[in-house]
This record gives sequence, structure tokens and C-alpha cells, in this order.
Amino acid sequence: MTLSCGGLGVATARAIAIGPAFLLDRRPPAVTPRNLAPTEITDELQRLEDALAAAREALRAVRDQIPPTTPVKVTEFIDSHLLMLEDAALVDPARALIRDRLFSAEWALEHHRMNLVQAFEDMEDPYLRSRRDDVDHVVRHILGFLLGTSSSDQPADGDLRGCVVIAHTISPADTVMLRHRQATAFVTEYGGPLSHTAILARSLNIPSVVGVHKATDYFRQGETVVVDGEAGVVLADADADILAHYRRRMQARDQHRARLRRLAGEPSLSADGIPVNLLGNLELPEDAVTTRANGAAGIGLYRTEFLYMNRDRPPNEKEHLATYLEVMRGLQGTPVTIRTLDLGADKQTADNPATRPTVCNPALGLRGVRLCLKESDLFRPQLRAILRASAQGPVRLMIPMLSSPREIDEVLTLIEQLRQELTREGAAFDPDMPVGGMIEVPAAALYATAFARRLDFLSIGTNDLIQYTLAIDRTDDTVSYLYEPLHPAVLRLIRMTIEAGQTHGIPVSMCGEMAGNPRYVPLLLGLGLRELSMQPDSLLEIKELVRGAHITHLERATQKLLARIDDQDPEALADAIKRLGS
Ligand code: PEP
Ligand code: MG
Repeated sequence: MTLSCGGLGVATARAIAIGPAFLLDRRPPAVTPRNLAPTEITDELQRLEDALAAAREALRAVRDQIPPTTPVKVTEFIDSHLLMLEDAALVDPARALIRDRLFSAEWALEHHRMNLVQAFEDMEDPYLRSRRDDVDHVVRHILGFLLGTSSSDQPADGDLRGCVVIAHTISPADTVMLRHRQATAFVTEYGGPLSHTAILARSLNIPSVVGVHKATDYFRQGETVVVDGEAGVVLADADADILAHYRRRMQARDQHRARLRRLAGEPSLSADGIPVNLLGNLELPEDAVTTRANGAAGIGLYRTEFLYMNRDRPPNEKEHLATYLEVMRGLQGTPVTIRTLDLGADKQTADNPATRPTVCNPALGLRGVRLCLKESDLFRPQLRAILRASAQGPVRLMIPMLSSPREIDEVLTLIEQLRQELTREGAAFDPDMPVGGMIEVPAAALYATAFARRLDFLSIGTNDLIQYTLAIDRTDDTVSYLYEPLHPAVLRLIRMTIEAGQTHGIPVSMCGEMAGNPRYVPLLLGLGLRELSMQPDSLLEIKELVRGAHITHLERATQKLLARIDDQDPEALADAIKRLGS
């Protein structure tokens, strides 16, 4: 066997993919300023025209290849870029720079691009400001042809069916686009395994490896790449033996999943007869049906922020309601926990105030409920739609990123106002719709009793709880080695939250990634959790584990282990916890 190229990154999913590399370099192309001799002006103007024509032609080709099933939003997006490219005036200022100031075509275009971007950024109107990315993208597309980094046989905005996308970084919003464009896998140079991009990739079943530094330099456009999301390995130039090895593993995984599928209709009861509610985490409404087919008893976390991405304006109440009703139809009467908007940190939209350049620590900034309470125009339509959806079936509302009981009181007051408003309007809603909160900030866990007193349920978000407790950025692969769910400090906070729920007689669930990991589930059952929400792909594996577990034994063993939490070496404790289920 021979390997001529490979990369090691951070494992994010237990899936494998093989496909041609599609290099998506999101770094601005490097342009070196260069002055022309006066005799070069005509040729340089022609180079600019040729690049413009090639960019138009490439985008038209993409437009013509869009399958009819593609969401209309994608088509509109490409059409709007084509319109810009077809406007001859788009590059007039660049032509003037070549003619009058003897700039090279690349330099002139880059200069023009920076001016345009600045002009859009300075606009008062948030809608116009949000068009900045479109203009930037279109001018860079032309620039790519001038610099020779684009070619007309690469899809710029279209179909990526079967491709392994290799990029500097990929945002959560990009991940949704990659799924719509049918990419088979992706590899990024930066990013942690608990970043929203990685979580989303797992949830959408896109194999990925993040943190492969210099990946965009190592891999070549179009070469066959193997993405092993389980080991965090990416290989190029694999020989026939290696490809056959990976194809066998893909087949074995498919067979294992087919076997597990038989459990979908079976009850989620432990071997000693204790029911455990297994729910799915949902990002895109269209996935509700498959989540249900995987045996979910409902949705324990619907991340609604993806409703706000890849669009120009936030959704209005009508759109919110239509989406929630679509999800509820897919769930066939099982409950949905709708988490209110959790934008901020690594989940951004173009015009989110949390993205202002002065914000150095967006994870500690205007995120989740903080943003919602500040921007009530963003929050009220969502709350009204959730209330209205509750008239049509079982809905729970969940608030993210809480750190103080005052925030809960403010949200509850707002909900009460909206209930009165809806009553006046004659709109139906469930007056008893449960309102719960996420415990994902250490302060919330330490003070969980005050939260439990005010709310109908709590859900532990371990992804953030671990990030904030251990002070490690979820998106930074250089510190992901410190991300330890079994750190005694984290275990203490989880236990405190469960105890607060028990004291106040309200349910406590977990919806962070820990809840879907077979390594930690025996501990969570032993700690007393009876509701776990996870990415849909993990549901059947966890159900198999639950059905084989003796929860009363696990409770005794967990109690014994954690009674000595202070005296034990943390690594020995973690090892003992991992052996709990065996
Ligand atoms: C969490 O923080 O554990 C969680 C479930 O929320 P998110 O991953 O969306 O931040
Ligand atoms: Mg969170």
C-alpha cells in the first residue's frame, strides 16, 4: 500500500466518505500591487474584460445545471449574482484605475472590491448592508479568473454532488448550503469538534474532519480523497487496497445501521424496566420525518437559529409558524422542544450586531437570550409563533444561554404579554405550554435551584457548559485536547443541575453532544437522567445501550464513584466511568 498525501485533524463524526476534492478557498486571493507601463493599458483592459466574460459564463453554466428540485432560494441567489455580473458598470471604477492610474487589472479590481465592501458596510440600512457579501463574492469571482485561481469547470455556486469540500473554514450557514448542494463530506483547516459547524455536520450526516492545517495547500482540485471522520484522517492518492479497505468499512457501517433500524419501533426501556425518553436534536425542519423514523420520541432541541441563516431578513411570525407546523407534521403528534434563537458566537448572520468588529469574545457577548432580550423585534415574532404553534400539538419552549434568573423573569413577562395580546386577537395557544431553560453556563448550574423554581424543565447543554467551565473555545482546534466531559468540575455541575430538578420536582434532560455518546450514557443514566436528546444518527445505538442497561446497578455504581470525586485522580475517575457500562 502506498500513500503519497494525507492530513490529520480532529475527528467529528463516525462516518467515512470518498469523493473528488473541491477546494473552496475562502481566503481573499493575494494581490500584489503592480504598476503598468502605458503601453500595457490596452492589453490589461482586455484581460479584465476576458475575466468578466469568463466569470459570467461560469455562473451561467452553474445556473443551467441546477436540478429542478433545488430550493428556489439557491436559484434566486445565483440569479442575483448573475445580474450583477451582467451589469457592465460593475467594474467601471476598475477600468478607470487601469487607464488613469496604471494599476494592473488585479490590483484595480481588488482596490475597487475593497471600496465597494466599505461602502456597503457604511450603509445605515441593515438590508443593504447585508448585500455586502454578495458584492464581495461576485467581484472575487472575477478576480479568481484574473489570478488563475478559478476555472470555468469548477462549480462556483452550484452542484457539489459527491464532492469532498476542502476549505479554510466553513461556517454553520455554509454547512447547510453544502448539504443542499449535496457535498459528500468536508474538511476544514480550522475548527473544533464541538463547533456548531461540526455538530451540524454530524446531525446532517455529512462526514467531516476539522483542524487539518494547510489542507487547502495539500490537496489538489479533483483528486480522490478519503475522509475518515472517525479517526480524523484525510487521505489523498490512496491506492486500490486502501480504497477497498474504506469501502468495506462503509459497507459494514451501513449493515450495522440496517440492523439497528429494527429497534426503531421497540420501546426505550432498560433491562430492569426503567423508561428512558430518547429524543432527537433538529436543525432543519425537513429532517423531522427522518428523526421520527429513527425512533425519536420527539425533539428535545430544535435549533431555530438555522431559520435565520442564508437569507437577507429575519423570518416573520408567519414564516416561523409555518416552519414549526411543518416540523410538527413530521413528528406525528410527538412533542417538539423549540429553542428560541441562539445566534451569536460561531452562529452568525450577516447583520447580527454581535459581529461588530469591537466584539473580541463573541462567545461571551450578545448571544442567545441576551441578544433576544435586546432585539425584541427579533424575539417577539418567534415567541408569538411558538405560542400559536402550541395550539396545534405538544410544544415546549426552551431558552438558551441563561446566566441569571433575571433573564428568565424578563422572558416570562414577555411571554405573558404576548399571551394577552394573542387572547385579544382571538388567536389560539396552549396556556400550559411548558417553558424551560438550558443550563449551559456554569453560573446557571451553580444556581440551578433558582432556575428550577421559575421554569417547567431544565435541559443541560454540555457543549457550552464544558466550553465555559473549562475556558476552552469550542471552535478552536488548538485547545480541543482540553475538552473533557468527564472533568470533575463538569460532573459536579451536571449533578447539581439534576439535583435541583429533583428538589423542585421538574424534569431535567440533556441535549449536548454528551447525551448521544455511548461512552457517557451509562454515567448519565446512573446520575438519574431519564431524558436524552441527541443527533438523530445516534438514537438507535443509544436505544440498544439503554435496553441492555441495568439502571439500578448504574445508579449505585455512579454514586459510589462520585462519592470519592475529590480524592480520585481525574484520569482514574474518567477510566472508571468509561467502564461503567461494561
Ligand atoms: C449545548 O450547548 O450543549 C447545546 C446543545 O447548544 P448548542 O450546541 O446549540 O450551543
Ligand atoms: Mg449551547
